[in-house]
Amino acid sequence: MAKVCPQCQKVVKDLPAHLKRMHPATSKAKNEPKPPSENELEKELETLELPEQPGAETKGTLYQCVDCSAQFRGKQGTCPKCGTTLDWGGIDG
Ligand SMILES: [Zn+2]
Ligand SMILES: [Zn+2]
Repeated sequence: MAKVCPQCQKVVKDLPAHLKRMHPATSKAKNEPKPPSENELEKELETLELPEQPGAETKGTLYQCVDCSAQFRGKQGTCPKCGTTLDWGGIDG
């Protein structure tokens, strides 16, 4: 009695033997492993959640202008208050 193999659509005489020999992996597990599309979507969402932190503005180190003693955060080219050119040479951070 010839049967059609559900895996490769071939007509085989001994289906169980054919499955065992030709499709050892699929003969047991009928459900094909789904492509990880959903998981990938989740990953994409995770990576899309780039931290645009609300507290980023207060993150910078506090510096003080050598000229007018104005305080500001982060390394700036010039003092935001008096406009003095700030030299960051040797200052780390
Ligand atoms: Zn087959
Ligand atoms: Zn200043």
